Amino acid sequence: RNYSSDRITATLFPGDGIGPEIAESVKQVFNAAEVPIEWEEHFVGTEVDPRTQSFLTWESLESVRRNKVGLKGPMATPIGKGHRSLNLTLRKELNLYANVRPCYSLPGYKTRYDDVVRGVVESLKIITRQASLRVAEYAFYYAKTHGRERVSAVHKANIMQKTDGLFLKCCREVAEKYPEIKYEEVVIDNCCMMLVKNPTLFDVLVMPNLYGDIISDLCAGLIGGLGLTPSLNIGEGGIALAEAVHGSAPDIAGKNLANPTALLLSAVSMLHHLDLTEKADKIQDAVLKTIAEGKYRTGDLGGTSTTTEFTKAIIDHL
Ligand code: ATP
Ligand code: MG
Repeated sequence: RNYSSDRITATLFPGDGIGPEIAESVKQVFNAAEVPIEWEEHFVGTEVDPRTQSFLTWESLESVRRNKVGLKGPMATPIGKGHRSLNLTLRKELNLYANVRPCYSLPGYKTRYDDVVRGVVESLKIITRQASLRVAEYAFYYAKTHGRERVSAVHKANIMQKTDGLFLKCCREVAEKYPEIKYEEVVIDNCCMMLVKNPTLFDVLVMPNLYGDIISDLCAGLIGGLGLTPSLNIGEGGIALAEAVHGSAPDIAGKNLANPTALLLSAVSMLHHLDLTEKADKIQDAVLKTIAEGKYRTGDLGGTSTTTEFTKAIIDHL
């Protein structure tokens, strides 16, 4: 993993749309904070690589496998036949089985709620016994190692009896191994209502992929939108690939308008994964201070700053 004893190599996919702009922001902030990381940059190819059957090159996947850690910008899959979706390729080839999406209120940025502090969404793609046990195991492990008290499994097992029923059965099995963590089950429609009425009711939520995709956008809305929410993909063999929850935002791409916070906070979770706690805290503090101060904010948070102005303000707060 290391170039030398004190520098860590990490894979960076700047991605599409606003990806290159927000990845540039991360690179600048990391440089200014003197984070000991060498980026190995990989770009989505212009042709299908027969070895991956997608526009992602074999070399880029090998880079993540070798480094075991990376940061990924949003990727828009080109439309056409004969290739796999970029995100699906990554998920399959790297066995990314859990996606951790923390969601908490940012101090100083006023929304309907001030205290959304507990929710974490995790998800997996396919309902098999093995995949369900693995993600449930990760949810409880996460709760335990992060001092959380409760895991709620979100489902629609009353209607989707086979698939969601199996998912719940697996969650219950794992719950028994963690008697110190409270376990409950919530039907997804009721969960949506409860999240909007009182988001502090929940702690850690675990659910299948499609529900996680929807619920995490709802949670993003509670705290100020998609420009703010980070995520971390956990893969087999200890791979950690951080990425923002949002997509490539083609409507604002190339205009220096994107909010880099979601990718920056994703990069911060990557630093925590690497135990670079001091650098992680330093960068997170600078981001939160900049937003709280309110002088420099991007358009999605009601400000008029460009991506580069906002980034510079963060660097000034380091
Ligand atoms: P995907 O299909 O990849 O999930 P999507 O259709 O959900 O993509 P996004 O690309 O996530 O769409 O964008 C949704 C909206 O949120 C767009 O209006 C976009 O401009 C806005 N948005 C997303 N990310 C950011 C960001 N980092 N900064 C500012 N606005 C953003
Ligand atoms: Mg989306």
